[in-house]
Amino acid sequence: MPVRELARLTWQEVGEVERELGVAVLPVGALEAHGPHLPLATDVIIAEAMARAGADRLALRGMEVLLLPALVYTAAPFAADFPGTLSLDPTAVTMTITAVAESLARHDFDLLAIANAHLDPTHLGALSSGVEQARQTGRVRVVFPDVTQRPWATRLTEEFKSGACHAGRYETSIVMAARPELVREAVQRQLPPNARSLSTAIAAGQKSFVEAGGPRAYFGYPAEATADEGRNTISVLGAILEEAVMIELARSAG
Ligand SMILES: [Zn+2]
Repeated sequence: MPVRELARLTWQEVGEVERELGVAVLPVGALEAHGPHLPLATDVIIAEAMARAGADRLALRGMEVLLLPALVYTAAPFAADFPGTLSLDPTAVTMTITAVAESLARHDFDLLAIANAHLDPTHLGALSSGVEQARQTGRVRVVFPDVTQRPWATRLTEEFKSGACHAGRYETSIVMAARPELVREAVQRQLPPNARSLSTAIAAGQKSFVEAGGPRAYFGYPAEATADEGRNTISVLGAILEEAVMIELARSAG
């Protein structure tokens, strides 16, 4: 089955999509400062790469995959003071997720998979609430593999697991693989490491990248990034999305 992009279809074409084996995939990112070397849409690029890789895998299993345009407006309080970061009230995110799920269900797409790449705790909380509320309607199954949690986090790179996972080697590698023309390579190659862990900072109650020890909005080892690592990570992210959908299908069939 081919992966279909919702935004490119006509309403009649959507009407003909087989619902029985259907899954809608929603990439979720942010417009947020990502160091001096990556674009504000970095998490959108990563979410879209994860969504596409997962969609391709699900299509190979014979599923009808409807790829949705990314959700890019969200809460990003850790980066809110950096120029260009757009940070919304988290309730807007919760309501959007629930409303998108319900609107899909109205058209008989009752399985939604979320490919999320934005890891701000406020955003993750809002997303989880939206998923929970959508599930409570009973009309839609929502799959949301949170890559910051087990079992998914253990599949990702060492830098990611260290918590120094913002605009470092992990994210820079993915952008190098997906959108190399958007990486400011001359800057990236010169960036000194910043080993501070955002997970530790969050646990300590810190509320911004500056407080967490990232005055230039990056953590980790961006100079070590490679497109090869990025391609590998995209493949792992796609496999995570695929597996989460398969688990949900097995659960709802059983
Ligand atoms: Zn990011």
